[in-house]
Amino acid sequence: MNNVPEHIIPVKEGRITESELLQFVDYKDMMICSECYEPYGFWAYRPEIIDYLPDEWKPVKRYFQKCDSTCSRHNQKPQMHDEDREQALWPGFDFNERLTLCHACGQEIRLSGSRFSYWFCRTCLGRALYFNSQHAPVIIPQGRHSSVAGFVLPGMDRRNEEKIREFVLDTNRLFRSITHLDVWRRFVMKTNFRIMGISGDVRLDYYLASAYSDQLKFEAWGELCNFMMKKHKEDEGYEDPHITVSEERREV
Ligand SMILES: [Zn+2]
Ligand SMILES: [Zn+2]
Repeated sequence: MNNVPEHIIPVKEGRITESELLQFVDYKDMMICSECYEPYGFWAYRPEIIDYLPDEWKPVKRYFQKCDSTCSRHNQKPQMHDEDREQALWPGFDFNERLTLCHACGQEIRLSGSRFSYWFCRTCLGRALYFNSQHAPVIIPQGRHSSVAGFVLPGMDRRNEEKIREFVLDTNRLFRSITHLDVWRRFVMKTNFRIMGISGDVRLDYYLASAYSDQLKFEAWGELCNFMMKKHKEDEGYEDPHITVSEERREV
């Protein structure tokens, strides 16, 4: 899976990939929320990377990543400082999220915080790219930015109404599929917690040390494809002729 794309990050004296920067993130104090299954807690860069970060990125304190904004415990973590209830945007971020778990298998972390970040671990991203090359990127979105999902509105088409309509339709489909993918993410995490016998919030490093399984990753991918394909067909108003078409119409 070495040929899957990566979001490239400019640092002093060069560039590194998100996977490389991930190696320099200290997450030993982070947990996974047992309600929304997102990581939360204090994270920091390892000291050896600090001097290579662009000046405007230099962390001014230890940042507290909150769990999902829709979670009832989003602002209710005992470890969180009061000042973190209303957070300013962290330097260099599009949104305040340093880590996320793979939205397909839930077994691995990846770097987040950029609108160009991918949601999948490298194995699942490779599978997503192949799936999307065979179908359409709106069925299984790879990230929140529409261009990550594979479609953009080129400058010269901005006056072409047909192209704009198509773009808006694709964007709406993308938003719906993002909602479905989040339903899947929670389901797969809930399943992983059950398999691992976890109840309640768990340390992220403890979870990651036991979560990896090639077999479960493979099975999760297959089930995700089925789930997302089914949701896509429902959204498109697709009717299964064996279920929804009346006998009379079927003869026509
Ligand atoms: Zn939560
Ligand atoms: Zn994965």
